[in-house]
Amino acid sequence: MTLRLARWTALAFALAACQGAPEVQANLARRPNIVFILTDDHAAHAIGAYNSIYPSVTPNIDALAADGALFTNTFCGNSICAPSRATILTGLHSHAHGVRGNSETFDGTLATFPQRLQDAGYQTALIGKWHLRSDPTGFDSWDVLPGQGHYYNPDFKTATGSQQREGYVTDIITDLAIDWLHTERSDDEPFLLMVQHKAPHREWMPGPEHHALFEGRDLPEPATLFDDYEGRASVARDSEMSIADHLWEFYDLKVAPADDAELTGPDRWAQGRLDRMSPDQREAWRRAYEPRNAAFRNANLQGDDLVRWKYQRYMKDYLRCVAAVDDGIGELLETLDDLELSDDTLVIYCSDQGFYLGDHGWYDKRWMYEESLRMPLVMKWPRVIDPGTRIEALTQNTDFAATLLDVAGVETPMDTHGASLLPFMSGTTPPAWRDAVYYHYTEYPQPHRVARHVGVRTDRYKLISYYEHGEWELFDLADDPDELRSVHDEPAYRDVRAALALRLEELRIEYGDTVP
Ligand code: CA
Repeated sequence: MTLRLARWTALAFALAACQGAPEVQANLARRPNIVFILTDDHAAHAIGAYNSIYPSVTPNIDALAADGALFTNTFCGNSICAPSRATILTGLHSHAHGVRGNSETFDGTLATFPQRLQDAGYQTALIGKWHLRSDPTGFDSWDVLPGQGHYYNPDFKTATGSQQREGYVTDIITDLAIDWLHTERSDDEPFLLMVQHKAPHREWMPGPEHHALFEGRDLPEPATLFDDYEGRASVARDSEMSIADHLWEFYDLKVAPADDAELTGPDRWAQGRLDRMSPDQREAWRRAYEPRNAAFRNANLQGDDLVRWKYQRYMKDYLRCVAAVDDGIGELLETLDDLELSDDTLVIYCSDQGFYLGDHGWYDKRWMYEESLRMPLVMKWPRVIDPGTRIEALTQNTDFAATLLDVAGVETPMDTHGASLLPFMSGTTPPAWRDAVYYHYTEYPQPHRVARHVGVRTDRYKLISYYEHGEWELFDLADDPDELRSVHDEPAYRDVRAALALRLEELRIEYGDTVP
């Protein structure tokens, strides 16, 4: 385990240019446009191209992967929204950019890849969800949802003011992006267009076009829906993010209460979402959900049957939200074709982290377990990436900034914890690459009582320290891909455990993180 992270320099760019085919060398010298599509909480295992157990609602993302590259081992360093977004922009782990949790404000004076691309002559635009509290910097124009934003008739904020737009948020963001390509884009310089969706973030409100998707049929259940949390650290069973006990009936599950019911918790906010709707939107919603809700009440489900019903409601609404995102990606790709931009544009699809889709009995993210640690990452760039490329190297959201500067040939140094992925994209293998990814989650106790933890993942093993509880977990992913049995205390794993603990400490020191 001696590999060191290659510091981002133009080295990777030069390397790829030297080793690639002549046409690839020539194409790397051109500065491509970049369309960076980011969703919120879209798990890789909800995407057909990642062998999802669900019927695919992502034909356009699947096609993007078939036409370009699918990264199978991309991980976040802290599985919540704002920290991962700040990491994507800066290439730094959470402790270094300062956004450790969702309530911290991003320092807009930090070096980011959009700002560096803007300095290098790129036209830069941001549309959609920002979620970093401070106003965006490094963009020629931005038009963003304040905070989490709303699914229906959302407010948008620009440098000059705010306005409410009527419609479904995913469709509006898609339309704004397409309008930007048609009317705002300059022909004189390459562009960076960041299209950032709210979907499929909680509270999973589908748009009118997808209300009926999957109705009348059951989705498959994950193998660990009824996980009992045996064989692992005690902290997992103390968290509050289970399908069984921690979904709110009105807010999350869309079951309206009786007229005289007293609302508590997030259910108090749910009426406000419905009140934002126009009469037509409200009627479409009522027609879709009220008959299902009446059937649910009449069934008076209990125990595991009730958990199964909640899972189905949650999962269908989640995938309905994804379906609208995928439709929008299809429209955006068509627009690039229509404008004859596709060959010269790198299109990236990713999400800020993964999500539990009933896995381990949960929704939400935060834990270092695979389902929320893994990020989907798909790229298409016809001039450089061969169709059907699969990249299995350990990659991380810290790599995105270095990659996009490398792609644009920007040599301005930028402190980063990541490295450029361009060699992988252009069909070469860097002489040295990371052997482990670093993770540190600290947002505790609220909102979901997930214990603080730090950890390291290699291609086969994962070591996690719940340092405030004095507990550890070690998983052998080859034998136990669902992470159901920690082998931390098994004598056979003594050497593996020691090597991983050493690697974790080396990475902590290399990145300058502190662990109490
Ligand atoms: Ca997120």
